[in-house]
Amino acid sequence: MSILKILKEPDPILRKKSAPVASVDKHIKKLMNDMLETMYAAPGIGLAAAQVGILKRVIVIDLAKDGEKKSPLFFANPVITWKSEILEKKEEGCLSIPDYFAEIKRPNACHVSYLDQHGKEKKLKAEGLLATCIQHEIDHCDGILFIDYLSKLKRMFISKKLAKLKKQQ
Ligand code: ZN
Repeated sequence: MSILKILKEPDPILRKKSAPVASVDKHIKKLMNDMLETMYAAPGIGLAAAQVGILKRVIVIDLAKDGEKKSPLFFANPVITWKSEILEKKEEGCLSIPDYFAEIKRPNACHVSYLDQHGKEKKLKAEGLLATCIQHEIDHCDGILFIDYLSKLKRMFISKKLAKLKKQQ
């Protein structure tokens, strides 16, 4: 496994739409494992392939807290088949937007169909933090970032801050 470089906003790749994978072959399995290692090292609870510059619909998630047993979830071609009408505000952050957190309103539950790390078709009923995380990561597959849900003013503020940070590097 290897640690991949995480792209940061305003990298234009983060705004591209990812393509579905044809199958979960050994390359996709390696990508999933590398993404998981990259996410653990960051550390974070979710990562989409677009964030490491690979425009494929692959995401990894692990909500286990420090000291808890790791419980990684691997998704290829995730599709939300149902969303709750009940919206809930939760604080979100993103490995591509360092040190910025904001409350975002999303459906508090969703159902998702996907292929797992063995290429098996799976269905998952998610609620709470897992539902938020799945929606956030699937957004990455469509070039959407959580700051897109904020007001234009807030978004401009954060974009400027990130651009300045990039110049300093
Ligand atoms: Zn993110």
